[in-house]
Parts: sequence; structure tokens; C-alpha cells
Amino acid sequence: MGGRWHSVTVGFHQHKFLFEDGLCLCPWPKQNAHAHGALKLTFEDSLTLKEVESENSGVAEGQYQPPDCLAQQSVAILIPHRNREKHLLYLLHHLHPFLQRQQLRYGIYVIHQAGEVTFNRAKLLNVGYLEALKDYDWDCFVFHDVDLVPENDYNLYKCDQQPKHLVVGRNATGYKLRYKGYFGGVTAMTKDQFHKVNGFSNTYWGWGGEDDDLRIRVELQKMKIIRPPPLIARYTMVFHKRDSGNEINKDRMLLLGRTPQVWRTDGLNTCSYSTLSVERPPLYINVTVDIGKPLH
Ligand code: BGC
Repeated sequence: MGGRWHSVTVGFHQHKFLFEDGLCLCPWPKQNAHAHGALKLTFEDSLTLKEVESENSGVAEGQYQPPDCLAQQSVAILIPHRNREKHLLYLLHHLHPFLQRQQLRYGIYVIHQAGEVTFNRAKLLNVGYLEALKDYDWDCFVFHDVDLVPENDYNLYKCDQQPKHLVVGRNATGYKLRYKGYFGGVTAMTKDQFHKVNGFSNTYWGWGGEDDDLRIRVELQKMKIIRPPPLIARYTMVFHKRDSGNEINKDRMLLLGRTPQVWRTDGLNTCSYSTLSVERPPLYINVTVDIGKPLH
């Protein structure tokens, strides 16, 4: 066989690769001819899943890898979901080509909370993390709201030496960071970083607080949240009304006060759930899960 051995850092590890003649590490967008920078996003009412599937024929069972270079990171995108089919369709429509232009190896996981019990975004993300690792040893995990669509190709969906917050601004709030410690919407952490903080708390039922809780966990570990420049870390939020079953969590301030005491015993290591199904349609891995209910 032709080719040469090279020692390269992929993700966070050194590997030796036998590069076939002509196969080399994929460049990041700044140096890659596929990337566009700022994008013009469209949200056509008539868009169908079939159309998005035919535009993304290189994606199989929710996963993709660049055909002619070696991706620098493998990334699992985790999307908590319930009753937001249209948002999911718009997100898939934009995210697949976006991730392909970034030349990542990736998988998109939609974690669907079964039943009518109050929504629990954070616990679904813990489940997504644990389930995704059963498929592949991903370098990086992107925790992604279903209604946020990235506006710029240079907002790299890769992990760094510190936990990363990808949403500095969104159209709905004049593209300003909501508050100094905001760590919601879309975040990226490596396996090591996520393990260090014991993942998300499982105890935030309903809207709010779980992202602040994750920030506290990150700070307790003396890690520092990093963000891309504001002109790049921009998102369009697809309009929606507050969902039923995701009412504001009135206990969130109380819970946040307890985080420093409880994070070790509330998180990835105590995330119990039952997987009802794992389906693999062309564009995503659909994990449907029973995550139980609040204690009271
Ligand atoms: C909530 C967060 C939310 C943020 C921005 C905070 O009050 O606790 O969960 O992401 O507001 O809306």
C-alpha cells in the first residue's frame, strides 16, 4: 500500500496515521475553500425532511466524515427535543452543510423525552452524552438547543482547552450576551471537561437554571469559559411560544445555591433512565427516553 506514516494530534491525542497518498488533515474553515463566513439563512415554510435528506446524501444514519481528508475532531451534537419538529427540520437543514463545510467528523443525536412529564433539558443532555459514547469515542460534545441556528461558518463546532460557549448573541436580543455568566443555548465540552464536572444536574425540571448550574460546576473546577468573537458567535432563534410542559422552574434559584454541595452526587454518575428506542433515520440518531419525573 502507498502512503506515509505521520504523527498528528487529532482531538486531544497524538496518533500515528498512515496517510494514503494525498490524504491529509482537514484544514479549519479560515483556510478552507468550502467555508463562507456569514451565511444567509432561510426558513421556508414548505421545507420537507425528504428535501433535506436529498441535499445531504453523504450523511448516513446521522453521521458523516469528510471523504478526502482526516477530520481534526469528532463531534457529537446533542439536541434535547419534544414536539418541536419544525425547529428540528430547520436546524438539520442548516447544521448538516455547516458541519460539512467545517470538515468535521460528526453525529447528530436528537434526545426525545417520552411522555408528558415536565421537560428536563439537562438530564436529556446527560442521556445523549452517555448514549453517543456507545456509538463512538467522540472527542467533543456540543449541547445544542433545537431553536438556535448558527449564522457564521467560522463559529467552529470543536472543543478547546476550556469549555466553550458558542452563543454570544442572537437576533432576538440584539446579538448581545444576555449576562456575564450566561452559558446556555449552545456549548461545547470535551469528554474530560464534562467528566470533571460530573455532567449536568439531573434535577432541573422545567425552564431555566440548568445552564447556570453547569457554569457553577465549571467554575468549581477552576475552568474558564471561552467564547468566539461576538461577530462570529451569532445565532438566529426560530420564533416560538413557551412550550406547555416546560414551565419556568420556580425552584431554580434554590437549586443553584446547592450546587457546590451536591454536584458530586447529582450528575452523570446518577443519571438513571430507560431507553425506549434508538432509531437511525438518514439525518440523525433518534434516542427516545423515559427520564422519570420530579421527586415532588
Ligand atoms: C436562566 C437560564 C437562562 C437565562 C437566559 C436565566 O435566568 O436561569 O437558564 O438560560 O436566564 O434566558
